[in-house]
Amino acid sequence: MNDYIAKAMALNGQIVIYAAVTTNTVEEARVLHDMYPTPAVALGRVLTGAALMSQTLKAVNQTITIQIKGDGPIGGIIAVTDWKAGVRGYVYNPSFDLPLNQAGKFDIKKAVGPGYLNVIKDLGLKEPYIGYVDLVSGEIAEDLTYYYAFSEQTPTVMNLGVLMGPDQKVITAGGFFIQLLPGASDDAIVTVEKGISDLKPVTALLNEGKTPEDIIRLIFPVENLEILETCPVSYKCTCSKDRMRRNLMSIGKKDLSEIAEDEKGAELLCHFCNKKYHFSKSDILELIDQ
Ligand code: ZN
Repeated sequence: MNDYIAKAMALNGQIVIYAAVTTNTVEEARVLHDMYPTPAVALGRVLTGAALMSQTLKAVNQTITIQIKGDGPIGGIIAVTDWKAGVRGYVYNPSFDLPLNQAGKFDIKKAVGPGYLNVIKDLGLKEPYIGYVDLVSGEIAEDLTYYYAFSEQTPTVMNLGVLMGPDQKVITAGGFFIQLLPGASDDAIVTVEKGISDLKPVTALLNEGKTPEDIIRLIFPVENLEILETCPVSYKCTCSKDRMRRNLMSIGKKDLSEIAEDEKGAELLCHFCNKKYHFSKSDILELIDQ
């Protein structure tokens, strides 16, 4: 199955739901960053959350960045999405593992540790919108749910999962994102609670061959469910030599002059895709002249 998000509305538009399969994208991130299983699961959840959240964006130049910083061994997690679920991200420390938690799952809470979560929405306006919450769980989905309740005052359910195989590759990854629109009735709240109460983990459903649309129907077995459009999900880096050149320019003349003393020039690494960009001594001298 290719990675994608399906969108639906239930109860005459009172509830909007997005369900995603992100298996290939998360596996691509795992391989790209050569991650151990625990950080791979953590980044996979954040990338899936970012992909789902991208569906609230309305225009081509808009982006959402999720930034998590904690005292745990992972250090931090960054994920960025464009408006069509083209995501990229990385963790500060990709090379550590932890014992499974009491539930027999990857201990993401411990990997992240106490800390905070930022959501930066760049809607193409003068200033980006920045929301900040302390981590309430560290398991990512609960933290994003809390972010929406606290920072955007929107009742939301976020569910994110990554299932790893014994070979430490991603078997399935996905999630869902439910929002109650303003003025939703108590019935709508009950319908959501009922829909998610007995639901199997999304990764297990995907592993059984269920599609995002199937998962939406399982959560909302109601008559007035409208399945709307779908959106492909992919790992997409936006780096370029030109962007790196601008990054270099931003460090200032003094630091550039120091770099220019090195005959070998400078090598810049894109954290999102690990691509290297080389700038020769003469490239840097040219930057200083500009
Ligand atoms: Zn890149």
